[in-house]
Amino acid sequence: MKRPVVDISDCTRCAGCYDMYPELFELNDVGYVATVERDCYPEDEVDDAIKHCPQDCIIWEDV
Ligand code: SF4
Repeated sequence: MKRPVVDISDCTRCAGCYDMYPELFELNDVGYVATVERDCYPEDEVDDAIKHCPQDCIIWEDV
């Protein structure tokens, strides 16, 4: 399985990913963008979020 991961060192919290896909990305309790815990992640939506992230800080990670 693979899941999207946000590199918070480059993320500017522009809100693009969690506005577009709130079922996939969220602001966590300490104010950083994180991936929502799910059993699986839809490839097309994640690829779209990756494409639109202005910081290129969303990547797929094998888990
Ligand atoms: S789109 Fe990219 S830069 Fe913007 S909040 Fe999401 S991960 Fe951060």
